[in-house]
Amino acid sequence: MRFYQVDPVLENYWRGIILFGKNVASYKFALASALYDLKRDSSDLILLEDLAVPFSEHLCRHLQHAPKQITSKNSQYLAACAQFNANEITPDELRAITVRRGFNNVIDAFHIVNNGEIEKRFFIDERKTHKGIRLTENFHHLTERPQFRNLIHETDARWNLVEQAWAMGVSRNLIAVEYGEDDQQLFSIHNDRRVAIASCRDSLNGYQKGHCFYCYAPISLDAGHEGLADVDHFIPWMARKSVENINGVWNLVLACKGCNRGKQGKFAHVPSLNLLKRLHSRNEYFINSHLPLRETLIRQTGKTEAQRSDFLNKVWNTAQQTLIHQWEPQAAGPDIF
Ligand SMILES: [Zn+2]
Repeated sequence: MRFYQVDPVLENYWRGIILFGKNVASYKFALASALYDLKRDSSDLILLEDLAVPFSEHLCRHLQHAPKQITSKNSQYLAACAQFNANEITPDELRAITVRRGFNNVIDAFHIVNNGEIEKRFFIDERKTHKGIRLTENFHHLTERPQFRNLIHETDARWNLVEQAWAMGVSRNLIAVEYGEDDQQLFSIHNDRRVAIASCRDSLNGYQKGHCFYCYAPISLDAGHEGLADVDHFIPWMARKSVENINGVWNLVLACKGCNRGKQGKFAHVPSLNLLKRLHSRNEYFINSHLPLRETLIRQTGKTEAQRSDFLNKVWNTAQQTLIHQWEPQAAGPDIF
């Protein structure tokens, strides 16, 4: 079993905040999204007055499709955002309310993950002295990382998953997440209707961190980008007759085009045993995080880690019997997962 929290790169601390924080409200997502929107050339000191605009915009945008943005019964601040959406208050009024109430819990809590503060800070609280927060070097470095654009997508995907769970009135760990081939969305069934949750790419990338599952080459989540990741079936689709639930999240990874359908690509070959171990670690990562994929993976592959590794091994051998050929690409970068 590999440990996956030791990777010291900066974006993983940020991911810790977004993916592993226990959410009682969506304010962390709104704050992260607001920070993404800041102009790079601006000063390190961000006045609450300025932060209030993108922060409330993101919340208002999410409130439009997901009225439940908090686990407690009500929030005066969110009520104000809803009023703004209904044209009952002006942008200036919303901004003033946001400065007064919007940041009360989120600035303190932002760097807390699993009851402890993470060791890298992305901003310092200067509300008392300067009416704002001060961005740190860490934040600036984060924006320069090649992964930065992917974080924007991941944050919104995570936000969608969490609010979907609240909308369904269940613990987010209890949602069964399924994958829709045609539109590459994760969805769940609610009252017999299919509810889109998030882009499958954005959700899976939390583990792969912008790199191909097989060869570690960089991949992108931006639609239209030439390096846009393919959502790939680890056990090839060709084996679907003998392998149950081949479309399950347990079997989906992000791959570069070269690995998925390039000259030396995988096609209907079975990934090597080495890669199967990597898949197991990936699934365990999702199970140990608070992602809603947890219950889904447990349901699909087993209650204990031993059962799950047994499941993968059986399925792999079944596929191997029919497809015969094994495959593993040349690594295109260091083995970061
Ligand atoms: Zn690849």
